[in-house]
Amino acid sequence: MTAPLFSLAGRRVFVAGHRGMVGAALLRRLADESCQLLTVGREALDLRRQAETEAWFEAQRPEVVILAAARVGGILANDSRPAEFLYDNLAIETNVIEAARRVGVAKLLLLGSSCIYPRLAEQPMAESALLGGPLEPTNQWYAVAKIAGIKLCQAYRRQHGADFIAAMPTNLYGPGDNFDLESSHVIPALMRKLHDAKRGGQATVEVWGSGAPRREFLHVDDCADALVHLLCHYSGEAHVNVGSGKDLTIAELAALIAEVVAFEGALAYDPGKPDGAPRKLLDVGALTTLGWQPRIDLRDGLRQTYDWFVANQAEARLAAS
Ligand code: GDP
Repeated sequence: MTAPLFSLAGRRVFVAGHRGMVGAALLRRLADESCQLLTVGREALDLRRQAETEAWFEAQRPEVVILAAARVGGILANDSRPAEFLYDNLAIETNVIEAARRVGVAKLLLLGSSCIYPRLAEQPMAESALLGGPLEPTNQWYAVAKIAGIKLCQAYRRQHGADFIAAMPTNLYGPGDNFDLESSHVIPALMRKLHDAKRGGQATVEVWGSGAPRREFLHVDDCADALVHLLCHYSGEAHVNVGSGKDLTIAELAALIAEVVAFEGALAYDPGKPDGAPRKLLDVGALTTLGWQPRIDLRDGLRQTYDWFVANQAEARLAAS
């Protein structure tokens, strides 16, 4: 592997959004680096408020920022709360990026997701597919905000010489995920539904859509490791995809989760619920070239996530605010 471009040693590193699934995984991963971690709860700092955000940066003077704070959610949440998905994400990004520039942050990493790409982008989706066609309507609000985030990083690089980069992870899963059925993504939703059905002796579990869409998944600990790798080994205008490079159908995924949960009943597909994009698989060539590979296989990751869910159900079942 090439020598790092940037070192985290001794740096004040602010993880914005540390209570989220990715933020928490970043804290676990960064505990292995000799850096000083900075975090702040939503009750103490609302990143949607510019003056508050700038005052916090002035006082805390972070040197590295990982922007993992975002309004996130699954297909239904995105589709039903468009204003929140667009406004909250735009406000968080503009406030954090400008505050970071003002205090001279040495490196900033913005997180987005693979839904920035056009609905019918050629698969696997390379970074160059951005803005090549219309977005998937169900998550366009989040996508537009995250595309603006990528452009903000590029603009600040060009105008201010700031080392701000952007990473676009694929669908993530793992401990600390949102298990609320209305707002969650497919893995925690199916895990919870299948677990409850098994416990309740229910014969059938409903799976949304046709089961035909294809999705790629990455364990959040792999994602956190990839993000630290990018901070240390990448500096450039182009955003970088973060994924496993492998996808499967929702029907295959549902069967795999049923196996992990040991649910022996039937799966019933509900075509009344949206399928979303037909396929989402990232081209991870750029990340591979930078020397990073995932380590956690989907089946193992699902087992570990299910164990976490079973051990932390009270917390896991609460709806994310
Ligand atoms: P997306 O990747 O943005 O479409 O987000 P999701 O993870 O919410 O959905 C992925 C796919 O899983 C879609 O085709 C959903 O219709 C399907 N799916 C099947 N059952 C469920 C479920 O119970 N919850 C969610 N969120 N998606 C489901």
